[in-house]
Amino acid sequence: MKIAVFPGSFDPITTGHVDLVKRALPLFDKIYIAIGVNSQKKYLNDLDTRLRWIKETFANEEKVVVDSFEKLTAHYCQRIGARYLLRGLRNASDFDYEKTISQLNDIVGGGLETVFLISRPAYSHISSTIVREIIKGGGDASSFLPEAVLKDI
Ligand code: ADP
Repeated sequence: MKIAVFPGSFDPITTGHVDLVKRALPLFDKIYIAIGVNSQKKYLNDLDTRLRWIKETFANEEKVVVDSFEKLTAHYCQRIGARYLLRGLRNASDFDYEKTISQLNDIVGGGLETVFLISRPAYSHISSTIVREIIKGGGDASSFLPEAVLKDI
């Protein structure tokens, strides 16, 4: 069984994340979209809300499981029996950051393999950070957000 974990903050989940998961579905038997909880970090949306938005977005997708975890992503993967991590690459700075994390996870996770998908051009400018800035500034972020988030914001 090919199980992948797509880890992130998803604060909030964007159409960029959704597109990435949809493209990865044919590659895996199960994808855990897992919110990494860092007690030091301040989030705009609380964990339960972020989880609910992801669950609603993928309600009709049997291969998707939505979960959260604390501490190391690699240990979470071992716990649930996932041998693959899924990450998206939008640009060169994503690559620089992801390269190091991926090599680290290979070591800490005992051969945990990261699968990268390059984002589609239509989504490569979308990030949760940008979406949060637009929302805080009172702007319209509707084209970056899935329906489940839109109806709440
Ligand atoms: P993190 O807190 O780890 O940065 P994010 O929720 O911002 O988590 O992102 C999780 C993953 O989703 C990362 O691999 C990121 O590259 C990917 N991602 C985010 N936005 C997009 C997008 N617009 N297109 C493709 N991948 C994306």
